Amino acid sequence: MRIVVVGGVAAGMSAASRARRQSGDARITVFERGDWVSYGACGLPYVIGGEVESFERLVARTPAQLGERGIDVRLRHEVTGVDAGAGTVTVRDRDGGETITEPYDRLLIATGVNAVRPDWANTDLRGVHVLRDLPDGQAIEESVKEAKRACIVGGGYIGLELAETLTTRGLSVTLLERGPEVAGRMLDVPLQRRVRAEVERCGVEVRCGTTVLGLTGEGGRVTGVETDGGRVPADLVIVAVGVKPSTDLARAAGVRLGETGAVAANDRQETGVEGIYAAGDNTESLHRVTGRPVHIPLGLTANRMGRVAGVNMAGGDAQFPGIVGTGIFKTFDLGVARTGLTHAEAEHAGLDAISVDVDSTDHAGYYRDAAPIHVRLTAERGTNRLLGAQLLGRTTSVKRVDVVAALLHGGGTVQDLFELDLAYAPPFSSVWDVLLVAADRAGRRLCGE
Ligand code: FAD
Repeated sequence: MRIVVVGGVAAGMSAASRARRQSGDARITVFERGDWVSYGACGLPYVIGGEVESFERLVARTPAQLGERGIDVRLRHEVTGVDAGAGTVTVRDRDGGETITEPYDRLLIATGVNAVRPDWANTDLRGVHVLRDLPDGQAIEESVKEAKRACIVGGGYIGLELAETLTTRGLSVTLLERGPEVAGRMLDVPLQRRVRAEVERCGVEVRCGTTVLGLTGEGGRVTGVETDGGRVPADLVIVAVGVKPSTDLARAAGVRLGETGAVAANDRQETGVEGIYAAGDNTESLHRVTGRPVHIPLGLTANRMGRVAGVNMAGGDAQFPGIVGTGIFKTFDLGVARTGLTHAEAEHAGLDAISVDVDSTDHAGYYRDAAPIHVRLTAERGTNRLLGAQLLGRTTSVKRVDVVAALLHGGGTVQDLFELDLAYAPPFSSVWDVLLVAADRAGRRLCGE
């Protein structure tokens, strides 16, 4: 059995490792066009921020360690074509320029996403970056050393994480967002406003409703961002306006793309083209709350899809269970978490939704250092089914979102949440945890009280 994996980060390496465990004699080759494999991209902002000591610390396994486990990793090798009929891939060695043809019995396309690079003037100036992979992180680190004023374009979770990072590094930071608020794709509007208020309180200038027109520079280095609301001076610009699934190779192989624009695969990560699998950020997944395909490119999803693909490619049997849209990040001391659907998303999906908001403390108010926590719980009228939760609070307190995520997996109701026997002691929560209070309130709303 010859297994070829394209892309050596979360999905690709999970697949290769699982395939190795599943089958002792499969020949497993990973082609990665970049210089790094098997690293946690999620940790990049924290290296720049100084919480993680080096980029190397993000690497789980080096190519040599993978080689010892019988996984042949070829760095700087870009797969440029697939001949699904012949069962071969074409691979270009980026150093030698040489092109080889490699046969496969099973092929995994785990090519991730590409950062959106808008068509503005001067994006090639020094000091202009995206943050997508490890070399991007290293380049930002170099620019930060000589920068004083940063401009982040895009108020999604990566932009908001970097707002903290760069402020911590002593830069003055302006964050530009085209939409009316930050975290627009993650939260309902009232919570978006709270996130923005927190970021502003921490010294970031946030300009929403602002469209970037282009960049200005001098001597090859960026000096500012031109917007419809005037020019923002900056010697470091980070463009964090979203990502697009990397689908060129899949399309070349005749693989179908789904309605989200990402690669469509079944729950075994099979694409429908004989022998070809897909996993990770380039692949859409089934949302268990709506029953619809979604493209939500996140780390656990990529690892899990890769694992499923690896087992199946090596002759085993595993299924990807779908996702419920859980996500979490921090900006400054604020933790932001969500699972399921926001109220707006639920309405957009045609569901009859109610939402309740609860402000409380993250543990017993009388115990030292209690901090505010806000929960919005969303449920469906008629069925009382939980639809989602959004939490804002001191960093780790919002990890209790996982309780709701667990219930969403099983189609749980508001009553199911209310009846849970959650852990309680004053340093950890109130006797009625904020989630239980929210469930109680939602239950009463659903009864028309
Ligand atoms: P990728 O990591 O994109 O890897 C794909 C690889 O394929 C790349 O190395 C690429 O070079 C290679 N490749 C592409 N085309 C070819 C080709 N033709 N030939 C050879 N190689 C090719 N997720 C979370 O859940 N939580 C977080 O906190 C979080 N934070 C993040 C912060 C940042 C700054 C970033 C960038 C991402 C973050 N993510 C987070 C997302 C998470 O990192 C991704 O979901 C995960 O890395 C996806 O893994 P992947 O293997 O699908 O794709």
